[in-house]
Amino acid sequence: MRANSLHALDLAHVVHQQTDLDAHAREGALLIARGEGVHVWDTEGNRYIEAMAGLWCASLGFSERRLAEAAYRQLLELPYYHTFFQKGHEPSVRLAEKLTAIAPRGLNHVLFQCSGSEANDAAIKLIWYYNNLVGRPQKKKLIGRIRGYHGNTVAAASVSGQPHMHADFDLPYGGRFLHLSNPHYYRAHEPGETEEAFSARMAAELEALIEREGGETIAAMFAEPVQGGGGAITPPRGYFELIQPILKKHDIMLVADEVICGFGRTGNLWGSETYRLEPDILTCAKQLSASYQPISATLISDRIHAALIEGSRKNGTFGHGFTYGAHPVACAVALETLKIYEERDILGHVRRVSPAFLEGLGRFRDHPLVGDVRGIGLIAGVEVMADKARRTPFPPERKAGLVVQKACQDNGLIVRAIGDRIAFTPPLIITEEEIAAMCEAFGRGLDAAWAVLR
Ligand code: PLP
Repeated sequence: MRANSLHALDLAHVVHQQTDLDAHAREGALLIARGEGVHVWDTEGNRYIEAMAGLWCASLGFSERRLAEAAYRQLLELPYYHTFFQKGHEPSVRLAEKLTAIAPRGLNHVLFQCSGSEANDAAIKLIWYYNNLVGRPQKKKLIGRIRGYHGNTVAAASVSGQPHMHADFDLPYGGRFLHLSNPHYYRAHEPGETEEAFSARMAAELEALIEREGGETIAAMFAEPVQGGGGAITPPRGYFELIQPILKKHDIMLVADEVICGFGRTGNLWGSETYRLEPDILTCAKQLSASYQPISATLISDRIHAALIEGSRKNGTFGHGFTYGAHPVACAVALETLKIYEERDILGHVRRVSPAFLEGLGRFRDHPLVGDVRGIGLIAGVEVMADKARRTPFPPERKAGLVVQKACQDNGLIVRAIGDRIAFTPPLIITEEEIAAMCEAFGRGLDAAWAVLR
């Protein structure tokens, strides 16, 4: 590596996020230089199919000019303003109008910020604030799930169930965070246990937790309709149908974290629609702006909003806000994104290509390394197993998932290993031909990995 090369400077100065920094110090990073459609090119000129849409987010691919133009127009018109102190601007009003029109029933008010983490952090603050205002200050605990992923602020990382985000960070913080088992049917079911029976076992665990802690101390449960950072894991049959009545019985709010699922990923506009969730709060980000600008939204009900107004009668100023929350350029880009989704019928497109995606990946069930393939819409996970007949995983030190990920990269395909589960969430614009090319590259990557791991 040349001194002062981009790679050397990267190693010298950039602290990479969610990265094995020890491996990075030895191996360096893949630096991406440009993108077009579902492809990106690295600084050496190699082309990749971006089967993760970056971080589950570049829904319209990497070269949508209309979004660049929407940002440019807004930058010329009003490059910055805020929504503090009874001020505001048109892009945030228009976006809020649009979002509440398409949101699940009853979510009529929106708080805009810059990231999914902030959206979930804000949800947590609003829940605590709300419960104080309605006179139940003891109802504050929050339930997450092991391997759930809700972001990286202190509170969002605490409700997340990712061990590496807790270890040595002194998280979860403050004793208010509880975690349920990961409802990952393939890995966690007992021999002979059906999906329905597994879901019932998960629901019984929730009941036992509430019994143990006291329902009057638990404020909310956070759940991604399909778990992303946990491994692109679809919920087992019957899971949310059993979970929701238990929450309702104890007046525990459900927060649907739609940061990945929102805007078509599961083949409906919302993952909540796909899995019949009735959230009290919904958070979204990523595909809201096709990720061309950082923006997220926390959608709340009239009931919660009314309490916030009541709160200002008591406390004066609503004490929450970010300088760049509801940034007009991000709002303008998000509005244009939603317009494109409708004009190009992106939802219809996802439904049309989803069978090719799921069947294409499903064919790898016959590969000696693959134990299971599951997904919905344009999100799927592939289980890499040492002995698929016995459901035996590789020992962690073999880093089997990373071996597959690297072999795919060498074959022009960017996927993500989450443990030994390989996640796929390509841009929503991917065509059937590109899906075929993606599967072909995955096959080459798997074969190369098999040569190492067998
Ligand atoms: N929630 C979910 C489900 C996510 O997948 C993510 C990020 O991947 C977040 C929240 C955090 O979003 P951000 O990285 O924009 O803070």
